[in-house]
Amino acid sequence: MNETSYDLVVVGAGTGMLAALTAAEDGLSVLIVEKSQYFGGSTALSGGGFWIPGNSLLREAGLLDSPERAREYLRNVTAGETPEARWETHIVHGPAAVEVLRRRTPLKFQWMAEYADYFPELPGGSATGRAMEPKPFDVRRLGEDRALLRPPALAAPFPMPVSGKTFRWVNLVARKPRGIYTAAKLLGLGVGGLAIRREYVAGGGALAAGLFAGVRAAGIPVWFNSPLKDLVVENGKVTGVVVTRDGKDVTVRASRGVLLSAGGFDRNAELRHEYQSAQLDTSWCFGNPENTGDTIAIAQAAGADLAFMDEAWWFPAVPIPGPMPGTLLAERSLPGQIIVNQQGSRFMNEAVNYMSAGHELIKQQLPVWMVFDQRFRNHYMFCSSVFPRQPLPKSWYDAGIAVKAGSVAELASRVGLPELAATVQRFNLLAASGRDDDFHRGDSAYDRYYGDPTIVPNPCLGPIDKGPFYAVQVVPGDLGTCGGVRADGFARALRPDGIVIEGLYASGNAAGNAFGRVYPGPGATIGQGLVYGYVAARHAAGKLRDYPVTAAA
Ligand SMILES: Cc1cc2nc3c(=O)[nH]c(=O)nc-3n(C[C@H](O)[C@H](O)[C@H](O)COP(=O)(O)OP(=O)(O)OC[C@H]3O[C@@H](n4cnc5c(N)ncnc54)[C@H](O)[C@@H]3O)c2cc1C
Repeated sequence: MNETSYDLVVVGAGTGMLAALTAAEDGLSVLIVEKSQYFGGSTALSGGGFWIPGNSLLREAGLLDSPERAREYLRNVTAGETPEARWETHIVHGPAAVEVLRRRTPLKFQWMAEYADYFPELPGGSATGRAMEPKPFDVRRLGEDRALLRPPALAAPFPMPVSGKTFRWVNLVARKPRGIYTAAKLLGLGVGGLAIRREYVAGGGALAAGLFAGVRAAGIPVWFNSPLKDLVVENGKVTGVVVTRDGKDVTVRASRGVLLSAGGFDRNAELRHEYQSAQLDTSWCFGNPENTGDTIAIAQAAGADLAFMDEAWWFPAVPIPGPMPGTLLAERSLPGQIIVNQQGSRFMNEAVNYMSAGHELIKQQLPVWMVFDQRFRNHYMFCSSVFPRQPLPKSWYDAGIAVKAGSVAELASRVGLPELAATVQRFNLLAASGRDDDFHRGDSAYDRYYGDPTIVPNPCLGPIDKGPFYAVQVVPGDLGTCGGVRADGFARALRPDGIVIEGLYASGNAAGNAFGRVYPGPGATIGQGLVYGYVAARHAAGKLRDYPVTAAA
């Protein structure tokens, strides 16, 4: 067996790349081992937004905030599900993690203005938003490494670097001049860039590419196609890893520790059925196909406790046959649609944030149905792929995930939704009054962010009355699971008795969600991957001895 030695081994080249950059800055020798042939993981496939309150980028964008307000907010949203010393790290160390991102990558950033926290009305919440994202990045700057960036499952129809900030307007292309202007500008950047041999990528592709550029600049070795196979444990302390490389097992000593940042168990059907729901299908995930939770199982075998294994970053989806389900984000905030259960009744505020929506979906007999009319179809994008007025794809009808009918009664009978006609009648009354007395859709600043600003008084409400009528299946998809190794505020793995496993750290989706069962705001998952990776590296370097105090969960 070959053997080699580093100070820190980072397992997984997603948000963990920031941990590697931090460790290198602190003078540690660091190795990244990555299971696949690509860097980036789900991070590369994501929107790339990060929710890290109080960082310098937000301050420079003019956002006034304070650690006290962010602390109050997290105390309210986490609701005691996770120890304060665990999430306190995000507030205390988040801003410094962003400084490493700024110092060690070539990325520039923009504020996602008005993209509200997901519970903005709770004390400490922000309706103006606390999320940043990278500006579109020219991935040709990576040179040959461009080929190593994890590609999306579906190629975009146009070279158009749509970011979180611009998505809102592109979605309203048929409603607002700003939508047309934004789409044209992005198309210009995409197509125009190619003409001058630049390839602008937005969101998570930009973030992952920028992190990797930093990794290369810092001279950090990355072993691709090298999955973690086991941990080396000596006297209860993790002192290294065994990875499979070129078909051989290689032991790598890690004198300061091992960071598991290998993502969740998104694609592991067995674990998902065991911990979450027998109804789930792993083809409803949007994330990295390589995330099968291997490292979570390996950590458990080494004595680590697990937390929040029943949770995921749920995201309502249309189970479109093929490589990717359809996303339902802005659609749920827009007028002219409702989501109903198999009785044909509404059961939630459709516009609520996607993780909370998933919590409601998972309780239902699946699938549930989004019901909308032709006006909705004429006005808005659907699943980020069907343009306004464009017919829904024939393959959706063939697969039975979409049904179209001339009247609500006919739709109800064809799908089998006995209460639908009464539900639509009631909803249309509420829409006319501009107030959703039943589920409060449009009351929150979060709901209204993706609403249609041309509709008053409530940008989220409008009647379903212009035929033909449609029903499309909805299932609880996800952006990844968020249960994993139970960790403390230093990202150290804990045993079931709360004792730290020396030398073992976990961050991102390989760890139990630092925020318990909630998604506090846009970018909270990448935010926590970056921050807890940073903290793990600083701790491994011996730079964080005193704060925060470890608390057993
Ligand atoms: C479409 C989409 C949009 C999203 N948008 C956002 C957003 O805007 N903001 C936000 O905060 N979150 C977003 N998310 C969620 C977010 O992307 C993920 O939660 C986050 O990127 C997870 O980061 P990670 O580092 O834990 O995992 P990953 O980024 O998936 O990285 C894990 C890496 O580990 C590797 N790996 C797996 N197993 C092993 C092994 N055994 N050995 C070695 N390596 C291994 C994987 O191949 C992968 O490269 C989005 C997700 C998706 C899919």
